[in-house]
Amino acid sequence: MFACASSGWSFSAPVLLTLLVGLGVTVLARWIGLRQRFAGSGAFRLMHVAILWWLAAAALEMSFHQQSCKMFWAGMAWPAILAVPTFWAIFLWQYINSIHSPIKPMTIVGLMGIPCLFWLLAITNPWHWQFYGQGSAPISAEVGAPIVYQHQWLFFVAAAYGYPFMLFCIGITVRAALASKGVHRRQFLIFLVLTTVPWVANISYVAFGWMLFGFDPTPFSFAITLTGFGWLITGMRLFDLLPVARHLLLDALIDPVLVVDPQRRVIEANPAALRLAGLDRNWQGRALADWPLIGEALDDLLVKETLAEESQVLNLEARGQHFEVRAREINKAERDGTLLLGRMLYLRDVTEYQHSQQRLAESLALSKQQLETISALLDTLQSQALRDPLTGLFNRRYLDEFFTLELARAQRDATPIALAMLDLDHFKQLNDTHGHGAGDDALKGVATFLLEGLRTTDAVFRVGGEEFLVVLPRTRGREALEKLKRLCSQFAELEIQTRAGPLRLTMSVGLALYPPHATDLSGLMQQADAQLYRAKRDGRNCVAASLETQGAQ
Ligand code: GH3
Ligand code: MG
Ligand code: MG
Repeated sequence: MFACASSGWSFSAPVLLTLLVGLGVTVLARWIGLRQRFAGSGAFRLMHVAILWWLAAAALEMSFHQQSCKMFWAGMAWPAILAVPTFWAIFLWQYINSIHSPIKPMTIVGLMGIPCLFWLLAITNPWHWQFYGQGSAPISAEVGAPIVYQHQWLFFVAAAYGYPFMLFCIGITVRAALASKGVHRRQFLIFLVLTTVPWVANISYVAFGWMLFGFDPTPFSFAITLTGFGWLITGMRLFDLLPVARHLLLDALIDPVLVVDPQRRVIEANPAALRLAGLDRNWQGRALADWPLIGEALDDLLVKETLAEESQVLNLEARGQHFEVRAREINKAERDGTLLLGRMLYLRDVTEYQHSQQRLAESLALSKQQLETISALLDTLQSQALRDPLTGLFNRRYLDEFFTLELARAQRDATPIALAMLDLDHFKQLNDTHGHGAGDDALKGVATFLLEGLRTTDAVFRVGGEEFLVVLPRTRGREALEKLKRLCSQFAELEIQTRAGPLRLTMSVGLALYPPHATDLSGLMQQADAQLYRAKRDGRNCVAASLETQGAQ
């Protein structure tokens, strides 16, 4: 800088050209920057700043006359010379992989560490001469003639630092070009050319000493890059149509969208799809089947062509999510039919819907189950209300209901009803001798005996502790008497199984008849009770009836 204070300077044609290239870069960067945000736009801008720096240093080197001053500005270009490939690589990487996140300031500082170190080494050259040799001299005796630099080892190390970035750029662009199709592929191929031009110029200068106007041709080659970008932007609407369409249609969508080619490789995916699969890089061109979480199932749906007509539901059990998948063919009209370019897969998150469906089904099932339980309980309650819990026989409560129906039928059909009151003989004694438990067992045995000995149309009721009432519809007096006598004697023969061993019992029976003795239940029961009392008096184990009454036979 101080060396330049006393240096003369002039404004030559190469300086003008350099400034024009710089102006072009500025206008272009500003124009692109103003238009929209695209993947890698941060790195793209930083790269332009670096190019401007480089061009400014080159212009200053060209303008000043004094050798030390020229060499100073050559050294000043170094942070930019190394920043350009760094940010170009980041830009390409982010653009190809659709990474929209801005570069963190700390990352920029970190990336600039080594370029700044070489910068320091380059501007301190007059103290060590390890960057440019002491033999560096003007090309001719002309005032302000360009310097032919004697490159030293530090220069080559610095230049080599940029090459891995260059190789990286070429590598990812080639890969992206191979994995993509159509417009995408053309774009990546142009990127490749634009990437290669400055490096060809740089290598020619460093390795073969090739120069332009007696200077490093690299900054000038950016003019070609500039033209290329100009064409990409205006001719192919690079940062215009594609990113805007992508941004609006895909990036902004909260639902995952994937585009696959006919070989079922993913060529496009929006952030929602990447988030779902947990991918953020190296996904373009990857086979759909290899996509984490969703790939296998989606690939399966495509192979089976089940998506052709209707949507399918994709259940991601691991994440508890459900998606409705729709596929749309992307065709290109050809002269002899249509060509399938690929398919767009659209996933709609239906987790909430599925959950509410499931909850609805569950509550319906629960209601149904509850209803069944309630009706079963009601049945039980009803039968418990009508039956005696010990013997399972009908109880006194049901007798009223049953007899009302039987009586109505008997009246309508003019048929008789026999009603018998049964009482076990000396039952208290059995209880006292063998215990209440054995008494209960005996009562159950009696119930079984009565049910087995009667017709299905007959009915038995437990109306007291050891008292039973038997209703024999459509049975006349004599017939009923015979039947009851038979029952009585069979009972006396019966060995009832109890916990105290087999026991024998007898019973006394009183018979009443409808219509001769009474025409309602209580009247008939009174008559039967009276006859039972008679049977007890007559020595028990017998049936008493008053068949002398008119019509009782
Ligand atoms: P009788 O020949 O005069 O009828 O004599 P009895 O001993 O049967 O006399 P009574 O009818 O007065 O006695 C009925 C007995 O039945 C009294 C009670 O101990 C018994 N008993 C009533 N209900 C039950 C019951 O549910 N279980 C048992 N084990 N015994 C009962
Ligand atoms: Mg009794
Ligand atoms: Mg008794």
